[in-house]
Amino acid sequence: MKNYIKEVLTKNMEIVRVAGWVFEKRDLGGIIFILLRDSTGIIQVTWSRKRGDKEIGRKMKKLKINDVIEVRGEVKKEEQAPNGVEIIPHTLRVLNEAEHPLPLDPTGKIDAGLETRLNLRPLDLMNPKRNAIFRIKSEVLRLTREFLRDRGFLEVITPKIIATATEGGAELFPVPYFEVTAFLAQSPQLYKEELTIPFERVFEIGTYFRAEPFNTNRHLNEFVSIDIEAAFHTYEDVMKVAEELIVHVYKRLNEEMEEELKLLNLDLRIPQTPFPRVKYDEIMEKLRGIGVKIESGEDIKMEHLESLKDERTEGYYFIIDWPSKVKTFYTKDKEDREGYTNSFDLMYRELEIGSGGERIHKYNDLIKKMRKMGLSIDNFRHHLVFYKCGMPPHAGWGIGLDRLMMSILGFKNIRETVLYPRDRFRLVP
Ligand code: ATP
Ligand code: MN
Repeated sequence: MKNYIKEVLTKNMEIVRVAGWVFEKRDLGGIIFILLRDSTGIIQVTWSRKRGDKEIGRKMKKLKINDVIEVRGEVKKEEQAPNGVEIIPHTLRVLNEAEHPLPLDPTGKIDAGLETRLNLRPLDLMNPKRNAIFRIKSEVLRLTREFLRDRGFLEVITPKIIATATEGGAELFPVPYFEVTAFLAQSPQLYKEELTIPFERVFEIGTYFRAEPFNTNRHLNEFVSIDIEAAFHTYEDVMKVAEELIVHVYKRLNEEMEEELKLLNLDLRIPQTPFPRVKYDEIMEKLRGIGVKIESGEDIKMEHLESLKDERTEGYYFIIDWPSKVKTFYTKDKEDREGYTNSFDLMYRELEIGSGGERIHKYNDLIKKMRKMGLSIDNFRHHLVFYKCGMPPHAGWGIGLDRLMMSILGFKNIRETVLYPRDRFRLVP
């Protein structure tokens, strides 16, 4: 086993064995410096003609950026070195040579376009800034799990190969499944609702698929969603869970990801709760006020929101009480207002981060709504049966993890926050 560089830098070690990639080389003739990097840090390796072994010197001279090497040696304090220490090598082994010129500069000094970077993603991720994005994303996942579990939500995994659409509208990718055609799941919606019967509160972090030929910077054909569903919760209750989750994530990122945030030049301001609740109708009225031609019952477009900026829509906020027409069949209508639902979208400026609401839990109401929307009752019979045997009132939401990352890190393109994005034109790598 090797010693990780972070360990060498933080513990007082004398003799170490480090391994990693050549990040930089300076050859001054009589003295050669290598900056060696691994996934945990960077350390200097120094050879001098005076004291060093000749064979090691010959090998050091030939090293190139991204050669993979292993060094055993002695750790010495050295004020001039980055991080204040250096390794004097006793042995040096070249484990793999990199062929030059490299297709992408892994040190981040020379930048390349997004297409090239995505084609060469692992090299791109050697750039400390890009690397930081995914360390933060991993932490967001951990913090989300921690938060939801502490709140009593059970983590579940539901099928990704399914027989029928759950969201309607959005297109499904077909997959051959023995004698029949199955589809890739576009959401865990129906399963998570059913699971409120045995578990009350569930969450899932999963990958979903939508077959639309999107051409935007916020849609991918494969994305990760954080979903919750909770029995005996109202839409107000689950909005609270969402905003408290986001505050938790921001707070803990500030505490734990200082180095990564600094690399990305980010100063995360913890959002204030409660997030503003803006009614769909209010937005419509304002839009009409600025001359946008829009009918009630239409979806609100991103361009519309861009022209509507005010202090309530600067950060995170909810657009609440959507018309039934634009929401999915399982969304519950308001009791006191025909044609409107107890639903919300979680927004960050003009970007939709999540959608949620109360769900219909009575069999007859659901059937009525499905008929009205022209859905086949028969296709859903395996699901509908549970509405006759103990379905509790419930509410939930889905928040796109990749969109959440866009909001936290300030990216305009979702592809920056996904390792290997899948879109209309990108299936490899
Ligand atoms: P949009 O209106 O932005 O197309 P949607 O309303 O169709 O999204 P939902 O069905 O509400 O999406 O899905 C819940 C969340 O999942 C969205 O708010 C979003 O964060 C995320 N999401 C949905 N579709 C995609 C996609 N194609 N790419 C990335 N994230 C997505
Ligand atoms: Mn939505």
